[in-house]
Amino acid sequence: MVYLKTDEEVELLRDANLLVGKTLAELAKVIQPGVTTRQLDTIAETFIRDNGAVPTFKGFPNPYGGPFPASICASVNEQVVHGIPNDIPLNDGDIVSIDCGTLLNGYCGDSCYTFAVGDVPEDVKRLLDVTKESLYLGIEQAVVGHRLGDISYAIQSHCESNGFGVVREFVGHGIGKEMHEDPQVPNYGRRGNGMLLKNGLCIAIEPMITMGAKDIYMQSDRWGIVTRDKKPAAHFEHSICVRKGKADILSSFYEIEKVLREKSL
Ligand code: MG
Ligand code: MG
Repeated sequence: MVYLKTDEEVELLRDANLLVGKTLAELAKVIQPGVTTRQLDTIAETFIRDNGAVPTFKGFPNPYGGPFPASICASVNEQVVHGIPNDIPLNDGDIVSIDCGTLLNGYCGDSCYTFAVGDVPEDVKRLLDVTKESLYLGIEQAVVGHRLGDISYAIQSHCESNGFGVVREFVGHGIGKEMHEDPQVPNYGRRGNGMLLKNGLCIAIEPMITMGAKDIYMQSDRWGIVTRDKKPAAHFEHSICVRKGKADILSSFYEIEKVLREKSL
């Protein structure tokens, strides 16, 4: 069942999503070699709760095992998504995808950013750039009158033409009062296919892109998803609202990238 959102609901979704961006910006300040993803999780949970929201990931049920134990997913290098924060320090040259969800005033935020830890190799930087570019190319297609497949195709064609793999098993999704609503938003597909996009449709678009082959497996903790060839993977996610002519991006990388720019000075 697809729920189109009213303008009031879109503003509530924006509040929840902007809080995710601010949370990720807090993490951007401290991400460096030596920090652990468990430390990042603690900072994120405290920040979310201090801002009157609830971390939606914490306790999220798992059909394969126990509920998710943390407030962020922290996926390092070959981990694609759903990494459980741990006590292993990040190393210079790692990448870490931080996916974060909030519930604020009854509506959900969901956004993800992949961070470089210290100096990462050029080919890994390119993976991050191309994955983020593909997210915005997908968002460009999320306008009234287009179809879901137009978003999917834009992401897939950009990533594959750059020699990267597109994960098939995990997809974007509708977002509202529930973190995961209909429809599913795959990162692969055919132009002109799928559901017609209507004004007020709110979806999370989230390319999960691999440097090598697209094949993945689940780790023994029943959460972490890893590339089979152990090559790195990137993940960027925005929650957006379909509008006429131009999508409204509800989450934001503005605060994150401001911190990253200041750190690089
Ligand atoms: Mg997410
Ligand atoms: Mg999502």
